[in-house]
Amino acid sequence: MSPTELLGTLHRRGILLVPSGDGRLRYRPRRALSEADCDVLARNRVAILALFESDPVGWRAAVMANQVRWAIAILLPIARPGLRFEPGSCCSCGEPRNGRRLLCPPCVVATVRVLGTVPTAGAPA
Ligand SMILES: [Zn+2]
Repeated sequence: MSPTELLGTLHRRGILLVPSGDGRLRYRPRRALSEADCDVLARNRVAILALFESDPVGWRAAVMANQVRWAIAILLPIARPGLRFEPGSCCSCGEPRNGRRLLCPPCVVATVRVLGTVPTAGAPA
């Protein structure tokens, strides 16, 4: 199974997998993966991290899009839900903000992309 196929399989099983920002992978729910699944992830970790790194906006937008579906009024979608971030880091993914107020540049682009897909109440279809 290629890393791309593995990500698709996890997604279909409802497992959220994100790069933690420190070279590890994080997934939710915590008990969703068997020991065998964890072994496959560990063996493919570098390739999976490279996939995420090759599309920093895409993986953030995919995670945020799921949040927008269940909470139309959400103000700030989160790229790495459930993780704690250092003060001063991007409040969506925890990476350096590069002078931005709240979000790093990829999270700004991903947020605009995702929120642009939300229908506006009262707007013509
Ligand atoms: Zn960010």
